[in-house]
Amino acid sequence: MSRERRVAVVGGGITGLAAAHAATEDGARVTVLEAKSRVGGVINTTPFAGHPAIDEGPDAFLARVPWGVDLARALSLGDSLTSPAVGKAAVWWNGFHDIPQGLLLGLPTDLFALGRSRLLSRRGKIRAATEVVRRRSDLDADSIGKYVRSRFGDEVHERLVDPLVGSIYAADTDDFSLAAIPQLADLAARSRSVLLAARHRPAALSGPIFYAPKAGMGALVDAAYKSIVAGGADVRFDANITELAADGASWRIDGEEFDDVVLACPARVAAGLLSRIAPSAATTLAAIPAAGVAILTLAMPADHWPRRLHDLSGYLVPKPQQRLVTAVSFGSQKWAHWASPEHVVLRVSLGRDGLPALHLSDDDLLAETQRELARHLGIDAEPSAVRVSRWPNAFPQYRPHHLAGIAAAERTLPAGVALAGASYHGIGVPACIRSGQQAATLLSRR
Ligand SMILES: Cc1cc2nc3c(=O)[nH]c(=O)nc-3n(C[C@H](O)[C@H](O)[C@H](O)COP(=O)(O)OP(=O)(O)OC[C@H]3O[C@@H](n4cnc5c(N)ncnc54)[C@H](O)[C@@H]3O)c2cc1C
Repeated sequence: MSRERRVAVVGGGITGLAAAHAATEDGARVTVLEAKSRVGGVINTTPFAGHPAIDEGPDAFLARVPWGVDLARALSLGDSLTSPAVGKAAVWWNGFHDIPQGLLLGLPTDLFALGRSRLLSRRGKIRAATEVVRRRSDLDADSIGKYVRSRFGDEVHERLVDPLVGSIYAADTDDFSLAAIPQLADLAARSRSVLLAARHRPAALSGPIFYAPKAGMGALVDAAYKSIVAGGADVRFDANITELAADGASWRIDGEEFDDVVLACPARVAAGLLSRIAPSAATTLAAIPAAGVAILTLAMPADHWPRRLHDLSGYLVPKPQQRLVTAVSFGSQKWAHWASPEHVVLRVSLGRDGLPALHLSDDDLLAETQRELARHLGIDAEPSAVRVSRWPNAFPQYRPHHLAGIAAAERTLPAGVALAGASYHGIGVPACIRSGQQAATLLSRR
């Protein structure tokens, strides 16, 4: 009888857990090596202000791609999935503006809706309307900003696309790869004009855009952890891996032998581990920058909360208006199960690529948050509870031509080693799950 394949998964974030889940299901003997004393990586759900489970990192995943939903269902969490109660967000540009109807990741597809919005100046709207007659854009620069500015002008980019896309990735979208956002890249490659292409767009999909387990994103991590342990995986905590070396046809990780290795840790860590065995890939990976953010969770007294904000899930702050706050989620309005009669839960994001925030102390982050909330919302009430969550280097930045660089690096990896995670083929939770599963499948087929 053949010996069980020994698979090491370095990193116990959602990517590593998804890889471990797939490899365990495939019959491998799996060891997850996690540097910290808990699994989940940037997914962390903890109690806050009397609520049992408020997310410190991601609070949802995209429902319109299969990998998150499918994993949740496979882990018996399907019935616990919920979606935002309020979907309407605003942009703060010297005051609140509704996000115009008909946007596709910030790109206008409905000029009448754009015309009614007061977010753009008259000049900005006229510039946007000329998109339809403009020559096909040159995509060689592979920059979201260059593409959108060339088609719709600076205002559409700075007041719509950059806040909407940039807030998802903590990015400066002038320096972020267009090709890495498939929806935008497909549209740009397929059609000369976005506005003309929109006329032939299929009807909008129905159903929720986002899902989250009612007990928070941590429930996905807990269920994955329990499932892989039940499947025989060995999950080791406080295992900060520093060495990966070839040993004949197998691999040694800090001295222990494995047949296959999934590197599900951030690119800068994978770069260190690959520096001897795949130096060219290591150089590419080491050059992927990552941005840090702080998430401040605040419980604001409900009796100070203005009525006019009751139907919003939150707002975005475009770059030219930013000090440190980039987005504010009205968490207890967005998620019905977070609601409380005493307070409104806010999740405030500070910092992004090119706008560091983590050098500030907790007190300074709070003071800045309160200053900016007073400016945006006109309220200066004291929060009854505050939590500061720091996420250094948590958002890999996909610079122009990122995907081509990763593909080249992956071609030079030795057999038996695969990369997976947010640094490579997608940053969102479903993309990370897919990448963990694909890495496990790739190794099982060699
Ligand atoms: C604040 C925030 C909000 C977000 N919001 C959303 C959202 O709402 N929806 C969404 O879809 N996505 C969101 N994302 C993105 C998404 O959550 C992440 O991209 C994804 O969870 C990353 O998973 P990962 O496993 O690849 O990496 P990580 O979660 O970073 O996990 C990597 C793991 O590797 C471990 N590790 C590192 N070095 C070593 C070592 N030497 N040895 C062993 N282990 C090591 C780390 O400790 C960590 O546990 C958000 C991200 C952040 C930071």
